[in-house]
Parts: sequence; C-alpha cells; structure tokens
Amino acid sequence: MISDKMSKLLERSAAMSAMYTESARMKEQYGVENVYDFGMGNPNLAAPDSIREVSIKVLNETDPWYLHHYMPNNGFVEAREKIANSLNRRFGENYGVDNIMMCVGAAGGINCLLKVLMDPGQEILTFAPYFGEYDRYADNVNCTLKAVPPNLPTFQPDPVELAKCVTEKTKAVLINNPNNPTGVVYSAETLKAIAEVLEAKEKEFGHAIYLISDEPYRELVFDGVKVPWMPDFYKNTIVAYSFSKSLSLPGDRIGYLALGSDVEDFQNIIAAVAVATRIMGFINAPGLQQLVCAELCEELVDVSFYDRNRERLYNALIEYGYECVKPEGAFYMFLKTPTEDDKDFVNKAKEHRILVTAGSGFGCPGYVRIAYCVAPKTIEGALPGFKALMEYYKNK
Ligand code: PLP
Repeated sequence: MISDKMSKLLERSAAMSAMYTESARMKEQYGVENVYDFGMGNPNLAAPDSIREVSIKVLNETDPWYLHHYMPNNGFVEAREKIANSLNRRFGENYGVDNIMMCVGAAGGINCLLKVLMDPGQEILTFAPYFGEYDRYADNVNCTLKAVPPNLPTFQPDPVELAKCVTEKTKAVLINNPNNPTGVVYSAETLKAIAEVLEAKEKEFGHAIYLISDEPYRELVFDGVKVPWMPDFYKNTIVAYSFSKSLSLPGDRIGYLALGSDVEDFQNIIAAVAVATRIMGFINAPGLQQLVCAELCEELVDVSFYDRNRERLYNALIEYGYECVKPEGAFYMFLKTPTEDDKDFVNKAKEHRILVTAGSGFGCPGYVRIAYCVAPKTIEGALPGFKALMEYYKNK
C-alpha cells in the first residue's frame, strides 16, 4: 500500500494524467493530425545536429572508465569550468568551478537546493502564475509554497504585494524568468524592486532569504529582449538552469546551479548540494550529457521557429477578440478565457479537438496556458476552433 502522502499527491496529479489519457484517446479516435495538443511544454524542435556530433566525439575520445563511472557529486570539473567561463564572459561573473553544480535538469537542481535550504514548516514564496510543480517541490521538503497574487494585466511581479507576503518563516523565493506559463520576461526594474524588498526583509528578520531564479527558458526570447541577470541585483541568488529547452534535450536531464561565492553560507551550500544530490539518489548528473552540454553551452535551437508560431497564434487570437499579454520569452501564451471558468473553457476546447491547460493549475484561474512549441500546422488547424470558442462565449 502506498503512503497517505503519496495517495494525496497521486490524486492531485490525476488532472495531469487525465490530460495525457485524453490526448491519447482523442488522437486514437480522430487521428494525430486532427488533434491540436497545446498541453505540454515538450519542445517540437529537434536537438541541434551538433549534439549528436559532439556526443560521438566525446564517446570516441574519452576514456570509458572516466566517462561512465562515479564522479564527484557536483560533476566533472571540465564541464563546470566551461560553464563558469561562459557565464563569466556573458554576465561579468567571476565564477570558478566551485560556483557551478551540475544537476539533473532544473527540476533536480531546485529539489536538491530546497532540501539544502529549507527546514520543515518554513515557507517558499513564488509569484502567481507559477510552474505548478513548485507546489510538489515545496511538499517534498515539508514546506508550504505561498504565491504572491498575480499582477494583472502585465504579470510583472508586484514588489508591494511581495513585501506583504514575506514573513519570518520565508527562507526562499522562487522566481521563473522567462515565465512559464505567461511567457513574460521579468524586467530589470521588477528584479531590482524584488531585490530591494528582500534585502529589507533580510535585515528585518536577521536571516538570509535565498532567491532561486529558475531559468530554463533564458535564451528563448524574442524581439531582441534580454533576460536580466538576477545575481546583478541580489547577492543571495542561486540560478537554476537547464538545457531541456535551449538545446531541446528534456529527456537527457541535464542542467546546473550557479551561485556566487558571496552568497551567504556559500561553502556550506555547495557542500550540502553535493550531499543532497547523492542522498536523493541522483548521485551525479548524467556524465556524457555534462561534457556535451558544457561544450555546447552557448548553442541554441532555432528560436525563430517559436517566434513564427508566437506571431501567428498571438495575432490570430487577438483578432478573434481574446486578451493575452504578448509573450516575450519561453514558448507559452497565457490566454484570458472569455468565461471566468477556465475549466469550462478547457472542456469546451476539447469539442474542437484543442487541448490547453487550465490556469488554475498555475495559481491563476480565468486563464489557460497554450504551449505553442508545436508544428505550425497544429496552430493552423486549431485557429478555426479558437475562433468558434470565442463566438460561442460571446453569444452565450
Ligand atoms: N522550471 C520550469 C519553469 C519549467 O517550465 C520546467 C519544465 O518545463 C522545469 C523547471 C523543469 O525543467 P527540467 O527539464 O530542466 O527539469
């Protein structure tokens, strides 16, 4: 028999499993090309050819005893060095190998970090709408996730609301930039204001408040937008990065944590994350992927593909009368539903063979997330359905 805690988690995950099942059922019934599935953030682009080429080179040129065996829990030194050098060059950091921890995707890194930072009963703050898995990550360390209410209509976090939400129990703040589900890029002004609030609260409560900046979409940006580098604004920042999206490698489970030596309790955090990686059963990030991704850490999938999808979908939806912030990053759009009941919209959309995710799952009802990392023909096929849905709600 599974634990009570896991039973509850299983129940809560039922909506997600139901979505997979529903998607598979509909594809079986109508044919894959007739179902417009915008449910998952699974990149539609293949990994660049260089991944295969460098993987073969690494396999051919590296001693298998070295490549495939246990290694230091924080990863291969040469992988960490290449990544540190790249971050130093791009963001003016002064990182050495000790400032980088290779991890099992951003998800693995954040979970290790929370295990290191959080005592049971403490609070993690985030900004709604937020990546729904954060609830589970907080639960993994017996802490609560508190969401600062969404700041409409821009979805830029509101520092005044943040200040109201921070308490003595707040140990970590988890932000995601560019944002899943809105595609909004938090501006330098926003990040500066967040930093000012947290610095004041650190003084007030007399302990560090760590900011975890979850950045798997850092390079997926449009219109020349740049994602500000959070450590420039706030000393106690730890960046969680992943190659899942920039190189379309979500199945390879590879990313890293980056933190400056001036982060409070740096030495202990680095040592403890290595232990957390081990005792949570990851042991280390996948070895081959570490060496390949470090070599290619400045490569990128063809972002113009997502940009074309974004333009086509956004312009059409606005023309039909929908409201939506034009995303500047990631590959999601967060659409205001023409009814307050986002779940009703999700169900109605299925009648048009369109699958989208209810905003409630991201702490923001009244919206749906559209993951537009799909084939352009999926967008073209779905547009008449989106138009019909708007007409249906207008005439209701
Ligand atoms: N954080 C956010 C905001 C995400 O959207 C995702 C994946 O979709 C993750 C973390 C997990 O990414 P990874 O595959 O690197 O674990």
